Order: sequence, then structure tokens, then C-alpha cells
Amino acid sequence: MNFKSQPRALNQNHLLLQLKDLVTGLRHHLEEERAMGLEGWPKSSVPPRKKAPSPPPASPSSLTLEEVREELGDCRRCKLHSTRTNIVFGTGNPRARLVFVGEGPGRDEDLQGKPFVGLAGQLLTKIIQAIQLTREEVYIANIIKCRPPGNRNPEPDEIRTCEPFLIKQLEVIRPKLICALGTFAAQTLLKTEEKISLLRGRFHQYQGISLMPTYHPAFLLRNPNSKRDVWEDMKKIKKEYDRL
Ligand code: URA
Repeated sequence: MNFKSQPRALNQNHLLLQLKDLVTGLRHHLEEERAMGLEGWPKSSVPPRKKAPSPPPASPSSLTLEEVREELGDCRRCKLHSTRTNIVFGTGNPRARLVFVGEGPGRDEDLQGKPFVGLAGQLLTKIIQAIQLTREEVYIANIIKCRPPGNRNPEPDEIRTCEPFLIKQLEVIRPKLICALGTFAAQTLLKTEEKISLLRGRFHQYQGISLMPTYHPAFLLRNPNSKRDVWEDMKKIKKEYDRL
């Protein structure tokens, strides 16, 4: 546009409007950047929406979580029992619409008997808060319930032995959505050997439940650039969560 031919006041108004647009655009961009975790996970400005508790859906399992826990008992079904401190069964809302499934307890979880309470857990808490939910509203569990020594990867026999208890937990809770955190959770639940980088980003089906695989929070601690991908996955989860 040729400003020279226009009266001065008109030019100034036009420039002011352009400046306003620029500032608005920049603000949106910064909000988006922050939401993608470039400065860590966003602190939600909106207080978590409290939904009125809905009646429990008809469960294919007549058991309760307490009964599944009792059945697990002082488990010695695999070799991990000899090195663990505590069994990490799972925590959260027994009627959760969204369940997060991780790999297995680390040192902090083993000591406290609760899932995702260490550094990766703190990041998971922020991720949950970023979609305006709380840990109390969702349920958090792992593929295996005892810490492998030195945090090594779970072995196939350990997964095979422990998985039935996670399956029972999911049958009791009957969530609408599952978020599988990392390779082991995604591959075990989906019965695939596909890489997490190829699995993530889209919903899969687990026993009629929509399942979104995404990167494990511990991976994000080492690869912060992947927070962008996880944020994209979480936005899809949140959209579906609000729709269901
Ligand atoms: N990593 C997991 O996969 N689960 C936990 O509970 C903690 C760390």
C-alpha cells in the first residue's frame, strides 16, 4: 500500500491496527509455543473442570479394584519379587475415563508404592494438568508392578506374568481412553513390535477402547524436543475426552 498519498491520520490509524494485529498474533504464537512445552508444560489458567460423577458403566468384570489387588496379594509370581520394596498397583479414580499406562516402577515408585512419583512422574503430572485434568480424575498404572533391578527393561516373562492384572484393572475401570506411555506400554497392549515413533499420534483400538500411544515422560526428560509431539497427542486425547 502506498502510504505517501494518504492523509497522515489515516496512515497512523492503519499502522496502529497493523501493530495490534501483530501483537495479537505474537501473543497467540507464544501461548502455542508455551503449550508445546518449549518452556516446560503450561500451567493451566483454567481450573480443572469438575464433572458430576456419572454412574459406573456396566462392567464386564464383577470385581472391584480392591479385589484385583487382593488377588495379586504379596505376589511372588516372577523373579522381580525378590528385589522389589513395594508392589506398585496403580492409583487414581476407579471410574476414570482416561487411564495412563506406563512401563514399570522406578526407584521412587518402588519406595513409595505409587506409580509415577519420581522426576518422570512430575512431568506426567504436568502433562495431565496441561489438558486440564488432575491425577485424581484419571487412573495411572504400569505394565509391570515391581521394579526391575537397576531400572532395566522388563523381560518378556515378567510382562507375561504381570499383564493379566493390568488387564483386570482395565476391565474393572472400563475407561473410554487409554494413553500408553512409551514403547513397552504401547507394544504390550497393542500386541505389536512397531516402533513408538510410528505408533504415536493416532488412536488405536484396545478391546474396543481408543488407545493413544505417546512418548514416555522419561524419554521427554532426555529429549525435550519431543514434547511437541506429546503435546499434539495430548490435544487429541483431550478432544476425544471432552467428546465422549
Ligand atoms: N516410569 C514408568 O513407566 N512408571 C512409573 O511408575 C514410573 C516411571
